[in-house]
Amino acid sequence: MPEATTTAIGAYYQLGRDQGMSWTPLSRKVLQILHGASEPLGAYAIHRRLPNRSGGRQATSVYRQLAKLIGANLVVALASPKRFLISPDPTILSWLALKCASCARVDVIPAEAIASALAKRLNQTSFIGSRVHLECWGLCRRCAA
Ligand SMILES: [Zn+2]
Repeated sequence: MPEATTTAIGAYYQLGRDQGMSWTPLSRKVLQILHGASEPLGAYAIHRRLPNRSGGRQATSVYRQLAKLIGANLVVALASPKRFLISPDPTILSWLALKCASCARVDVIPAEAIASALAKRLNQTSFIGSRVHLECWGLCRRCAA
């Protein structure tokens, strides 16, 4: 489990509104599921936790909500495997994911200085980056002991 967020869910709603996000019942529910999750979740796992799935709600609609939440920095996307977790602190824009290759534990640590240095370097190239995922595989403290 990543560092548990100490941010109340109401603060996420407000931060989203501050960024022009329009909250829908589905986007609220997706955020609530991730806010209460003990581990990063895939879109299908989020979909399975939704109430009233019989209403024809597709997993693709979960992906659309995740894209909005990621765009508002409320959710952190992990690239491999594709999982999502609540941002421990939505005021932090970049995270480094620390992934244990043994027990699959994932922690995230703030990485704004790394992301800033990377963005600066990318600006010196002709490549236009849109999103960077910083991930490090290794062993957690418990598995390394
Ligand atoms: Zn481990």
